[in-house]
Amino acid sequence: MIDHASLYARSLRVAPGGVHSPVRAFHGVGGLPIFMQSASGARLTDVTGRTFIDFCQSFGPLVLGHRDPDVHAAAVQALNDGWTFGCCEPYSLALAEWITSNVPWAERVRFVSSGTEAVMSALRVARAVTGRSRVLKFDGCYHGHADGMLVKAGSGLAGQAIASSAGVSGAVADETLIVPLDDADALDRAFDAHGAEIAAAIVEPLPANYGLLPQRADFLRHLEARCRQAGALLVFDEVISGFRIGKTGMAGQLGIRPDLVTFGKVIGAGFPVGAYAGRQALMDRVAPAGNVYQAGTLSANPVGMRAGLAALTKMDAIGGWRLLDERAERFCAALGDGVAGLRQRLTIVRHGSIFWIHRHTRDTLRRPDLIPAGNREWFARFFHAAIERGVYLPPSSYEVGFVSVAHDDATLLAAAAALAAAAHEVDAS
Ligand SMILES: *Cc1c(COP(=O)(O)O)cnc(C)c1O
Repeated sequence: MIDHASLYARSLRVAPGGVHSPVRAFHGVGGLPIFMQSASGARLTDVTGRTFIDFCQSFGPLVLGHRDPDVHAAAVQALNDGWTFGCCEPYSLALAEWITSNVPWAERVRFVSSGTEAVMSALRVARAVTGRSRVLKFDGCYHGHADGMLVKAGSGLAGQAIASSAGVSGAVADETLIVPLDDADALDRAFDAHGAEIAAAIVEPLPANYGLLPQRADFLRHLEARCRQAGALLVFDEVISGFRIGKTGMAGQLGIRPDLVTFGKVIGAGFPVGAYAGRQALMDRVAPAGNVYQAGTLSANPVGMRAGLAALTKMDAIGGWRLLDERAERFCAALGDGVAGLRQRLTIVRHGSIFWIHRHTRDTLRRPDLIPAGNREWFARFFHAAIERGVYLPPSSYEVGFVSVAHDDATLLAAAAALAAAAHEVDAS
């Protein structure tokens, strides 16, 4: 008899913490991780045969849901044709042409294998172009696990950062400045003190890794203006928002043109693909056109390239982004109605097909330090109550939920009812 506990016990003997990426261990919600066997459309099936309506969707890549038939066909065709050549091939060319013809600020694109790599490489380009070493990031944005991005605010003013992970050297952490989101004064102080040293500012234009923290357009425009004044590059990290929030991402929605943009998640339709892109003059600094070295044995892997292109062209053909928006709106409205009578009120934040549920706050949350005390404990109970009712949310109070094209209205209404019941159960106890 297969069960989660014995699989987890075996995992703990072979992998640190039993997992290959920390959130999967359920430390944020307690209890044993659930081992999944298979998935289809909006649903996950675990090793014991239980099914769940899935709002994690592999943390975002599956904009069409699990095992979309067209993405499946493209991946199978790639397997049949050979899954890696280490040579030039037409598949990455087709995806690069699609991206450069649909995203105006992406004149040149380079494929890598993860969002982390895309960010690392884009920042290397920014340093090369500007001849400067420092990078400004925001507290409450996640940019993958490259050393320089694993920092938190230090005690100093004007953005001094310290390492937030063991194994990151003080020297590397020193090259990053960190400022709060939604705080134009703090941003000004950092640029006033260090503007001439800043190679780039990097931001998630829709921060979605510490909950969903929508930013005021004015704040992002102010960031853009400070970058331009200082001669620093503006890097939009659209690893989570790219090709999910519309075809041109948050940059398109905001009308802000970043110098460089990073992609991941949706771009590979669930295969390990990342990309960085930008103006030709900047991207042509990358080897072999220029002297910024960056390479990858499995970069532009044909399976990911063909699956990614299939997903993006399908989204385009079916009006997928509008569909997602409408479905997610109806889902969040139904959920909002369902949780309206709670003693301990909840807030549902949504942007496009990304949503986040948290304990009620009067004002829209734009910074992680304003998340209400007790939210994590509330979420842990809510998460397990949802599991009991057949709904799988990402297993952390900081992770956002994703609606896919495979979540039809009936599924979404059933999920909203189940989540509302879960919230009521937690509220009553
Ligand atoms: C997921 C994510 C990353 C890291 O991507 P990986 O593929 O996990 O390395 C970077 N930036 C943002 C905004 C992300 O959401």
